[in-house]
Amino acid sequence: MSHPADDAPSPAAREQAARAAELRRLLNRAAHAYYVLDAPVMEDPVYDRLYRELLELETAHPDLQTADSPTRRVGGAPANGFTSVEHRIGLLSLDNAFSLEELEAWYGRLLKVLDRIPEPGAPLPELAMVGELKIDGNALALSYAHGVLVRAATRGDGERGEEITANVRTIQSVPLRLQLEHPPAWVEVRGEALIPQPTFAALNAERAARGEALFANPRNACAGTLRQLDPKVVAARRLDFFAYTLHLPDDWQPEPVGMGQGGDPPRPSSQWDSLQWLRAAGFKVNPDTELLPSLAAVEAFFARWEEGRKALPYATDGVVVKLNDLRLQADAGFTQKAPRWAIALKYAAEEAPSRLLRLACQVGRTGVVTPVAEFEPVPLAGTTVSRATLHNADRLAELDLHAGDTIVVRKAGEIIPEVVRVLSELRPAGAARLELPHTCPECGSELVREQGEAATRCVNSSCPAILRGALRHWVSKGALDVDGLGSKLIEQLVEKGLVGSIADLYGLDAALLASLERMGQKSATNLVAALEASKAQPWHRQLYGLGIHHVGEVNAKALARAFPSAAELAAAASATPDGNPPQAITAVFGIGDEIAQSLQQWFATPANQGLLRDLQQAGFSLAASDAERATGAPGADGGGAGADGHLNGQTFVLTGTLPSLSRRQAQERIEAAGGKVTGSVSKKTSYVVAGAEAGSKLSKAEGLGVPVLDEAGLLALLAP
Ligand code: NAD
Repeated sequence: MSHPADDAPSPAAREQAARAAELRRLLNRAAHAYYVLDAPVMEDPVYDRLYRELLELETAHPDLQTADSPTRRVGGAPANGFTSVEHRIGLLSLDNAFSLEELEAWYGRLLKVLDRIPEPGAPLPELAMVGELKIDGNALALSYAHGVLVRAATRGDGERGEEITANVRTIQSVPLRLQLEHPPAWVEVRGEALIPQPTFAALNAERAARGEALFANPRNACAGTLRQLDPKVVAARRLDFFAYTLHLPDDWQPEPVGMGQGGDPPRPSSQWDSLQWLRAAGFKVNPDTELLPSLAAVEAFFARWEEGRKALPYATDGVVVKLNDLRLQADAGFTQKAPRWAIALKYAAEEAPSRLLRLACQVGRTGVVTPVAEFEPVPLAGTTVSRATLHNADRLAELDLHAGDTIVVRKAGEIIPEVVRVLSELRPAGAARLELPHTCPECGSELVREQGEAATRCVNSSCPAILRGALRHWVSKGALDVDGLGSKLIEQLVEKGLVGSIADLYGLDAALLASLERMGQKSATNLVAALEASKAQPWHRQLYGLGIHHVGEVNAKALARAFPSAAELAAAASATPDGNPPQAITAVFGIGDEIAQSLQQWFATPANQGLLRDLQQAGFSLAASDAERATGAPGADGGGAGADGHLNGQTFVLTGTLPSLSRRQAQERIEAAGGKVTGSVSKKTSYVVAGAEAGSKLSKAEGLGVPVLDEAGLLALLAP
């Protein structure tokens, strides 16, 4: 038997080394495109995550570190066309934190270097911090000799930057002379040059009109502007500048002044005082900067600006937290790349890269086959995701997805995650291209794609996936709302052949149900009772539960109101001699041709006619009850208050748990009063109704100034 030599790298180590090399190659290329060419090849959050992955690999395996690693460098090399100048004091980057846990970890490290770790059990010492917005612009170093601006340089690689004084002189908020009585022999001021959003938008519009490549983001547009060879062009773009760092000669003190005379501001001993000093010297300091007494205050500052920043006239991507006391800053010192006393806390990314593990296929209740990417879990917009939709075969082909690919996943707001891009540079050699299968992964029958349709479908109506979907839909909250019939039980019922249609659910007896896995006598009896009770659900819920294509909850209500029984609806939906969509159906407000055609097809299908018969035999009326007909309001089961439509035209968003109404009840009562309930908050939202543990929708509403109601407020509004 042969043994590998002890020092030969393991396959895992080889894979890690290869991954580190790939990441270095890709990140260095991206950094060049970003810093030197001002034309990024990937989104910032994607860069950040890949960077983080490399950093973690290098930290776990220090032997993987190389001199050319982007983790060991600040920014990019100075671009050609300008004189490269050396910074008097290194101009470093900032370390990033992507969550409050990472912020707390940074704070812990800071206490450790400052030797302030408390005794076990004692509270953490509170160090005052300054909270600043992290503006997405370009850091500049401005040198003043005897109060006069003599040099302005970009950050470059942190040691050397480009000398761009003539361009910076055109920025109105950069003082050409300090407003001090006795300026020091030299002062160095750092801050952020930025391009205002409206200018950015106008600039890109002009470029588009000229057929030129657009700037990817305001930071790149600002960098591109600062590197213009003609200062007149720079002047026209009206850049702005916020100062945030002050370096004074070690021995500088303001000249003493006589009684009654104003003097120069005192030498600052904190970041906060430095900002006041800069303001007094004539700089613009960001007005949204705050002195924060504790870590809790930092967290509140971060939370407050998450929405607030969207209303600012410039781009921001996080907040920068800086230890206030300058002496403590000096004690904490620097790493190779960044100060230890500051951290950039970034807002959750809506895009991130991950590695594809598997291409799965989901068969929906209408038979549509959706390709789904399963990948290594990544945190995204506040949750961890590991699956994302690839939509359909066309999208899959367009992405050119291969096994083991690094993909970019997006989750914007409350939208389900999707794969937006593939980083083909990171593709493993020899990887196979992925396609949708030709046969249904559930029942093996041939998949069909009709001409002109994006969807690929399984058309076998007894496909277990379709049946499971139909059952899940039938018992769901908005439909028949049957408690105790979860996905696992449905799976068993279908797999064991106990249920072949939704009507079969009503033939199940408690003894049989009790014999199934994870079922007891009690849950079986309860389920049979819940199924029995579901027969009394209103007609519009039964209609919605049938899962007819395009007939969602809102349409089901409109149709149920116009056609109070399945028989009447079926008659109205029957084929027209001219082949046009049935007019009796399209005459219903809000119902168009597509829905009418779908109903026509559904009622014409013999299997569906059989299903209606079976349901009737099981005890369903498939019609509105007398009470429903009397009120004419399909929402009557929701309480019916305010069925007068006095909330017509108003949109509501529900978030959190209300004390007495369920979400569904609240929705039904709003709809019964004519209002509409939507899933996301916008300026057009009339009210956000917030209960306990309300989520981001509440902060969004507050950010946008949308009125927020509690349950009592909603009930008051609902009262006719
Ligand atoms: P950074 O942007 O994370 O943080 C440092 C910079 O923040 C400073 O240089 C300064 O310009 C800026 N800043 C803004 N407000 C500040 C404040 N109040 N105080 C101090 N600094 C403030 O780090 P970086 O090294 O400049 O760039 C790294 C970032 O650039 C990455 O996180 C990535 O998002 C982006 N990047 C993207 C690509 C890409 O391909 N998309 C490539 C390279 C870098």
